[in-house]
Amino acid sequence: MKTGQINVQTENIFPIIKKFLYSDHEIFLRELVSNAVDATQKLKFLASNGEYKGELGDLKVDVILDKVAKTLTIRDRGIGMTSEEIDKYINQIAFSGAEEFVQQYKGKEGAEQIIGHFGLGFYSAFMVADRVQIITRSRNDGAQAVQWESNGSPEYTITDVEKEDRGTDIVLYISDESKEFLEKARIQGILDKYCKFLPHPVIFGTKTEYIDDPKGEKDDKDKVKRVAIEVPNQVNNVSPAWTKAPADLTEKNYNDFYHELYPSSIESPLFNIHLNVDYPFNLTGILYFPRIKENVEVQRNKINLYSNQVFITDSVEQIVPEFLTLLHGVIDSPDIPLNVSRSYLQSDSNVKKIAAHITKKVADKLAEMFKKDRPDFEEKWGDLSLFVQYGALSDDKFAEKANKFTLLKNTDGVHFTMDEYKEKIATLQTDKDGKLVILYSNHPEEQFGFVQKAKARGYDVLHIDGPLAPHWISKMEQSNENMAFARVDADTLDKLIPKDEEIPSKLSKEDEESLKPMFEEVLDKQKFSIHFESMDSNDAPIIITQPEFIRRMKEQQAMGGGAGFYGAFPEMYNLVINANHAKISDVLGTKTKKSQERKVKQLTDIALLSQGMLKGEALNAFIERSIELV
Ligand code: ADP
Repeated sequence: MKTGQINVQTENIFPIIKKFLYSDHEIFLRELVSNAVDATQKLKFLASNGEYKGELGDLKVDVILDKVAKTLTIRDRGIGMTSEEIDKYINQIAFSGAEEFVQQYKGKEGAEQIIGHFGLGFYSAFMVADRVQIITRSRNDGAQAVQWESNGSPEYTITDVEKEDRGTDIVLYISDESKEFLEKARIQGILDKYCKFLPHPVIFGTKTEYIDDPKGEKDDKDKVKRVAIEVPNQVNNVSPAWTKAPADLTEKNYNDFYHELYPSSIESPLFNIHLNVDYPFNLTGILYFPRIKENVEVQRNKINLYSNQVFITDSVEQIVPEFLTLLHGVIDSPDIPLNVSRSYLQSDSNVKKIAAHITKKVADKLAEMFKKDRPDFEEKWGDLSLFVQYGALSDDKFAEKANKFTLLKNTDGVHFTMDEYKEKIATLQTDKDGKLVILYSNHPEEQFGFVQKAKARGYDVLHIDGPLAPHWISKMEQSNENMAFARVDADTLDKLIPKDEEIPSKLSKEDEESLKPMFEEVLDKQKFSIHFESMDSNDAPIIITQPEFIRRMKEQQAMGGGAGFYGAFPEMYNLVINANHAKISDVLGTKTKKSQERKVKQLTDIALLSQGMLKGEALNAFIERSIELV
């Protein structure tokens, strides 16, 4: 037997490893299982090279839980280590510069990645174990098996032992404060999370357990039955879809893999993009388009980041542009630096290239789908539009590409590209100043009357809704010169799309002046501003509109939350009186003041009612008055 000191610069490294660096103690298992898989892969490589000539045999990795002995063992049949190799790889921790780094980052976000980077992965075992053994025999013929042991102080012992099989056992004596890692379900959960797609079979089994105390609540002396159970099962799928060639995968394969990734999701994705890049960085993966609908927030954080099939994290905000976090799926890249802080990640040039590449791929895929099968694309548009709007708003390059496949849907359910639509409405919806006015409704049912009136004039009305619509509309107006969007109920049609020809008014200035106070009498003057307009005599006698800019201000305020600098933006409407409507002239001709008032009240209420603005007591009074009139 030999004893020695693990070569660390400070004795304090273990407390740091234990307490600060890993916020998540559970990742010790990821480190140890990936070491075992690495050792296995190295052996396979040596064999394919002809450097290792022995039998490979069954190259699985075993994770063995022994609740009675309170150990967790990670066993591989990989290259193993000689005593010299242990000295080199385990005792001489490559620690130059690491110490400073560790001090700097302890407890910070992303710090959990540092240890692996500095070759400290193995030592993460001490986060959960107060004693760790390495029992290992090198692949070389006649190699002497050795056992290394340490209790987490920088001292270790190394002993020659008997070991029949090639490879390495890492035995963790789980500490009392980490008892949770003796629970089968806990270990299964960790393996499912980090090891689900490792490239070699990982088998999890339980060795012994007190069956009368499955939860580990009793003291040792009270326990009676100790049984050996052997229920090994394979944890992982060694060749997940993203590692295969697209040509070898069917639609069904892609969908099945989606459900393998998200077992609880019922719906299938809309379509997918298989990523495969060798240069200038290495990246593979599959991104899925979920059916997004309106549930933006719920859908987030579903992309899993892997490094050589080892799960790293599901928070990829810094690696893919924000709008792409709406997608689901897997990105696997050994080139994404995992060992550094988030702000560093953002400025990393590889990360930037990766983000740009993914954005381009997504835009290209959408363009291709649009070109290949437009009816199918139109069918999917309902699920895509929010995503495309989000992309166009957050990334100019994406916006440029998206112009070609962004669809507009009108209230009759017909889809157009922007270019097609501009051409369709050019003749009728260009105003007297040459500006093209796009009419839209966010709720064709509620704005039915307005939509009908617009259509009766030969205008077209788009259906644009969704949480990003107001922003997207502003963006469209900015990038298309001489074009404006107006909601159908923002004003009268003559004002929305002003033309040169004017309809003469039937009312004189005096008529208007005598009518105005009558309306002011029945309305809240703070809320309504009264206007006269010479409209078609077939238009409604009174129309209530909310000016486009006021609505947009309110919408923006609502989205920004809070009341804004000037307090809440007031509720303001226009009450537009149709100077040419017979019922308006009729009010003027009415003899008694009382019946004049009654008519004004009734006409105003009808206008309010048609906007869904007549409520409560006012609605009740209107109904009673109307019954009397019958
Ligand atoms: P890293 O894996 O990042 O290099 P580790 O501390 O996890 O850092 O491991 C240090 C070294 O110890 C590895 O590079 C490898 O050479 C060796 N090693 C660890 N685990 C095993 C194992 N199961 N089989 C063979 N060698 C191992």
